[in-house]
Amino acid sequence: MSSNTPVITGSCRCRSVQYYTTTPPRSKACNFCHCQTCRRLSGAPFLPFADFDTASVLFFSAASSKALPNSPKSPFKTGIASTPSTSAASEPAPLQEAVEKVPALKEYRASPHASRFFCGDCGSQLAMWYDAEPGMLGLTLGTMDEESMEKIEGGLKGKGHIWVKEKAGWFDLPDDGSTRLETMGNSDRLLEGK
Ligand SMILES: [Zn+2]
Ligand SMILES: [Zn+2]
Repeated sequence: MSSNTPVITGSCRCRSVQYYTTTPPRSKACNFCHCQTCRRLSGAPFLPFADFDTASVLFFSAASSKALPNSPKSPFKTGIASTPSTSAASEPAPLQEAVEKVPALKEYRASPHASRFFCGDCGSQLAMWYDAEPGMLGLTLGTMDEESMEKIEGGLKGKGHIWVKEKAGWFDLPDDGSTRLETMGNSDRLLEGK
């Protein structure tokens, strides 16, 4: 597989922000986050995420979209070095290059531990990134093109519900066989950030 071949493609609702990944997700098992922040930002009971290697996710603006799927004019990596320097560790530049080059791509810090990325034009929630794990970027399943997801053998599946302790009382979580975590499990590594 060429390193520039799109695997998962996606966009915000208005397509001002588009992306593709050059690798499959780290796992086909996805997390559904019920934390209050995800709920408020989405207006929905939870936000579903799949985790990717940060360096494999390329964002671009609508202006270059005609070049999809094989040769986007000016795709660029998300700006996070796969091996961040120590000087960058305290103040990493999450998606800095993407935020600079894609006018509609905006960053929001809901906590001191994580950045979220959304479209400033239509408001779609696109991605989430933890300071403690810069090599991993979560992309929201709802912004992915389903045709690209279907090409992943076995498809992407929900694996776990996380932050269930903040689940909306008005939402009855059906027993879908997925694991349920009160928080996010690895909270010692990723702090309480969300
Ligand atoms: Zn948009
Ligand atoms: Zn959340």
